[in-house]
Amino acid sequence: MGYSLSSTLISSDELKKRVRDIASEISREYHGQELVVVGILKGAVFFLSDLVREFTQDLKVTIDFMAVSSYGDSTKTSGIVRIVKDLDTHIGGKNVLIVEDIVDTGLTLSYLVKLLKERSPRSVRVCVLLDKTERRVVEVPLDFKGFEIPDRFVVGYGLDCAGLWRNLPDIMTVDQEENP
Ligand code: 5GP
Repeated sequence: MGYSLSSTLISSDELKKRVRDIASEISREYHGQELVVVGILKGAVFFLSDLVREFTQDLKVTIDFMAVSSYGDSTKTSGIVRIVKDLDTHIGGKNVLIVEDIVDTGLTLSYLVKLLKERSPRSVRVCVLLDKTERRVVEVPLDFKGFEIPDRFVVGYGLDCAGLWRNLPDIMTVDQEENP
């Protein structure tokens, strides 16, 4: 089975505008405070780097990363989350903002929120670029959200398909081909 790019779902211009709006919301929420931004590797890297550069200067921002893997094939989540890389910093007493590319079943994010809350932070909130609402299995509060999207597999702007297409400037849908 092969994959091919189908059509543009969200253009780079739309992404830029929405990222700016979310950054304003976050800046208002944490006005003058310290904030640890936790990016989930690798998909959230492009979103995170655009987002934090749009924060107002009064925020005292630090950045850390986690990597998780969710045993499964390239297009389906299995629900079992494994920490591949943990944070380098202590988050006790800090405001934490998890930045994730996409929420699908919600299993990955709900696990991460629970894990980070056990470390006694001051607060844990979630910022996600894409939300596939139809596919939710567990409820996870999304404090800041970019776009709701239909149940289609998407790539680009950091999101991959078997490692490819992260570099695309737009979010695009992917077709599965029976006989590539
Ligand atoms: P969840 O645990 O919410 O089911 O899945 C979240 C993870 O599944 C995301 O971090 C991402 O790695 C992957 N994922 C879910 N849907 C898509 C998609 O449409 N495209 C890509 N590239 N990854 C997806």
